[in-house]
This record gives sequence, structure tokens and C-alpha cells, in this order.
Amino acid sequence: EAKTHPTKNYLFYMSSMTEHLLTISKFDNDLKHAIENDEFILHYQPQINLHSNAIIGMEALVRWQHPVKGLLSPYNFIARAEETRLIIPLGLFIFKKALEQAKRWQDENFFNGIIAINISNVQIEEEDFIEQIEAIRQKIEVSALSIELEVTESSFMNNPMQSSKTLQKLENLGYKISIDDFGTGYSSLSYLKQLPLHKLKIDRSFIRDLPRDRDDQAISKAIIALGKTLELEVLAEGVETEEQKAFLIDNGCDSMQGFLFAKPMSAEALESFLHQN
Ligand code: C2E
Ligand code: MG
Ligand code: MG
Ligand code: MG
Repeated sequence: EAKTHPTKNYLFYMSSMTEHLLTISKFDNDLKHAIENDEFILHYQPQINLHSNAIIGMEALVRWQHPVKGLLSPYNFIARAEETRLIIPLGLFIFKKALEQAKRWQDENFFNGIIAINISNVQIEEEDFIEQIEAIRQKIEVSALSIELEVTESSFMNNPMQSSKTLQKLENLGYKISIDDFGTGYSSLSYLKQLPLHKLKIDRSFIRDLPRDRDDQAISKAIIALGKTLELEVLAEGVETEEQKAFLIDNGCDSMQGFLFAKPMSAEALESFLHQN
């Protein structure tokens, strides 16, 4: 092709490339400025013990308060932030905000449980990740014992040795580690016995069609049994109905998170929601 119409193809290639690059770089620039301009906010979603109904944790979920586009879901920018490594400064910013909120809630005696924070594998693989979060944590004065880091199975796939060292160090410092979206990754199960884990979060896709779907019944039961055997807590994500909740209780699941109890909300909204209930 390039041989028959060199110029034409080259020009076509160039123009589609530049167009692509321009779109990307505008987005990347926006993202970079958004970090500098403090346009990111955190919403929080309670995690509930299925037996006591007590709130055991709050998961911090980032949103981008875009000046033009409005409130953007993390699905619109996390992947690109990972590709450009902007997730490193953004991730630290999220960590700091979440800890500041946890500290306020502890001081007000409003909530003393676990603050759960999503950590990208790009962050886990970053050389000085632990140093950086530890500096923030010590400054804000929140115990590592009340922090849970949510990682995904893919975090162990690029460099299993290094990631497991990092997780081991985090565990030694008192952090809890949970596996988010469990069951959707392509990693082997052997890492489960090697890593210092506390919790498996059953991915929402396996909960959605419960209790009706036979396959999802089998998968969620198997994950709960696996968690029990390995002495890990099991939390179900995306619980929306009483029927799903009943199924999970009947099958020995420990905890849940989902719209049935509460959607992710701003700290303020969550405070008034919990005061009313
Ligand atoms: P995730 O960590 O698995 O978070 C759960 C997602 O499910 C959240 O979407 C939450 O709003 C949604 N969800 C919770 N309960 C229900 C329910 O009952 N039904 C339905 N349909 N959805 C429910 P969200 O907030 O849009 O976050 C999407 C993903 O973006 C997260 O999935 C996580 O992978 C990523 N993410 C969010 N915040 C951060 C962050 O601070 N850092 C990083 N690295 N990733 C983040
Ligand atoms: Mg999560
Ligand atoms: Mg998840
Ligand atoms: Mg999920």
C-alpha cells in the first residue's frame, strides 16, 4: 500500500495521527490541570456487615467535577490517567483526600471504621509508592490499621515478585489489602495463598442476576467458599435487591456494598443520610 501511493498514504496517516494526538493531548492537558485546580472530589459508599448491618467501611470513589462537562465518572478518565501515568499524582491526591475525610469522621466520632481506597496497578508498581503514601498518612495521623487498599488481580500480573513484596511491606505497616472485582481477572489463583490479603470483593457482574441465574449462584458460592477456606473476608459488590442480600446471607457471605443500602455520595450527603436513618 505504502509503495503504490506513498504520499497519499503518508498524508492520510499523518492527518489521522495528528488528529488523534491532538484529541488525546487536549484531554491529557485538561486532566493535568484538573489535578492542579483541585477539580476532583470523592464520593463514599458504605460497606455493610451482612449479619449486624453495621457499617464496617467506606469506599472512596473519585469523580471529576469538570467545569464544562459536569460530574464525570471514573470510567471516563482513570484508564487514560493510567496510560499517561497521571494516575500517580492523582492517586496521591485521592489518598490524601480520603485520609483527611477519615480523620474528620474519626475526630467527630461519626465513623471509626475502615476507609477503602482504590489503588491502580500503576501506583503499586511505582518505586516509591509506599514512601509517598506513608508520608501523607503520618502527616494526617490516621492509623494504617484503618486503611484498606483495593487492588485488582491484574496488579500481580506484570511483575508478581515486586508487587508481592510491595503488598507484604504494606501489610507489615498495618494496611489491609482487598482484591476488587474478584473473578474478572485472568490471573491464576495461586497468588491468593502467597499474598497477604484480607478480603475478596465479588465482582458486581456475578451479583447482578442473583438469585435467579444458576451460573452466578455457583460462582458466588464458590468465591465465598474459597474465601472461607483461605480465611479471607468476602464482600459482595453491587447488591441492589433484598433477594440478592438474602441469597448472600444464606450462603455465608460476610459483607456487602451496593445501592440497596446506599449509593456513593458526597461526605455531606452521606452524613445527613446516615443521621436520618
Ligand atoms: P469499583 O472499585 O469496583 O467500584 C464499584 C463501582 O460500582 C462504583 O462505580 C460504584 O458506584 C458502583 N456501584 C456500587 N454499588 C452499585 C450497585 O448496587 N449497582 C451498580 N450498578 N453499581 C454500583 P464508580 O464510582 O463509577 O467507579 C468505577 C470504577 O472506577 C471503580 O470500580 C474503580 O475501579 C475505579 N475507581 C473509582 N475511584 C477510583 C480511585 O479513586 N482510584 C482508582 N485507581 N480507581 C478508581
Ligand atoms: Mg473498589
Ligand atoms: Mg469492584
Ligand atoms: Mg466492579
